[in-house]
Amino acid sequence: MENNNKKYSALHEKAGISPPEIISSSAVEQIQESRKIQPSSIELFRGILSGNITALSRAITLVESSNSNHLTKANEVINACLPHANKSIRIGITGVPGVGKSTFIEVFGKHLTGLGKKVAVLAVDPSSTISHGSILGDKTRMEELVKDANAFIRPSASGETLGGVARKTRETITLCEAFGFDTILIETVGVGQSETAVHSMVDFFLLLKIAGAGDELQGIKRGIMEMADAIVINKADGDNIRKSNLAKVEFGSALHLFPAKKSGWTATASTCSALTHDGIPEVWQTIEKFIELTKGNNYFQEKRTEQNQYWMLETINEQLKSNFYDHPEIKKLLDSTKSAVQNDEISPFAAAQIVLKRYFKE
Ligand code: GDP
Repeated sequence: MENNNKKYSALHEKAGISPPEIISSSAVEQIQESRKIQPSSIELFRGILSGNITALSRAITLVESSNSNHLTKANEVINACLPHANKSIRIGITGVPGVGKSTFIEVFGKHLTGLGKKVAVLAVDPSSTISHGSILGDKTRMEELVKDANAFIRPSASGETLGGVARKTRETITLCEAFGFDTILIETVGVGQSETAVHSMVDFFLLLKIAGAGDELQGIKRGIMEMADAIVINKADGDNIRKSNLAKVEFGSALHLFPAKKSGWTATASTCSALTHDGIPEVWQTIEKFIELTKGNNYFQEKRTEQNQYWMLETINEQLKSNFYDHPEIKKLLDSTKSAVQNDEISPFAAAQIVLKRYFKE
């Protein structure tokens, strides 16, 4: 390559013209790649099935796009992938910032790939629109997992609404499953409604906590605890072990106070350390027990069917909403009715009726 470049430069010198910038072969490949016409949906689908990671990433980018042509193409790829999807375990992981989610996912993910699993890590983070990816955005947070050939990490999609972000992740699951990932980890941050959205797309929901100073049950939303199939108290290492064990007992008894779950599963409380790896294999063993139980009593499949129906309705809701709010005439009318409501010229309900009637052309 270097020799060729030298010859090339000498020729240009002889001819009295300055040689063109010498570019490396990888840069040439990149240029060729970018000049290629975009792959068709069938090419993307075939690429995904044959384990081509570029095809998977490109298909996810289509899913995340707001361009309507991309959306049509994304839907074609997803539909083609559907019969090949569904064969994974989907695990939701939540916890407040600082609890150790990314450290845990890195260690847990490595444990799973060590067991021969293929792991995809996705995220639902509605705040990423503002912060450009506060979770998973920075891949260096999972340095080891990023390098693992059997792992795939995709930061949260961005979007205007939680519903939009969650839908994109939901569809990305299908693509990842068709690709062959058998364990999907979905991270979400313990704020707002994002846990509910993640809960509605996973089989198992794990809440990460850290031991506090005896106030374990405070500051935790009852709803999140009720959704959890397991509470794992992280950072149970060094001086923190005793406190973590106490927290485990406290959470364990609190979990028993909740009504029995439809799954027949009783949520568990345990401790782990993402630093020392203590308790990490046990988390997977708990999940395996859950899967065995719920596949045995058919809850696993029933829940997935229910979730599919939920996502169909969610998607309709989302599309109706964006179609309504993006409508130029409605936008204008909303502006004027908003100020009329602000000035008490019209009641909020009457104003809403005016806008809705215009939309439905009544
Ligand atoms: P996230 O915001 O929930 O993703 O939390 P991070 O994974 O970024 O962890 C926050 C901090 O806690 C980092 O400084 C980690 O090194 C530390 N950390 C995470 N897990 C453990 C653990 O098991 N033990 C200890 N001692 N520190 C941990």
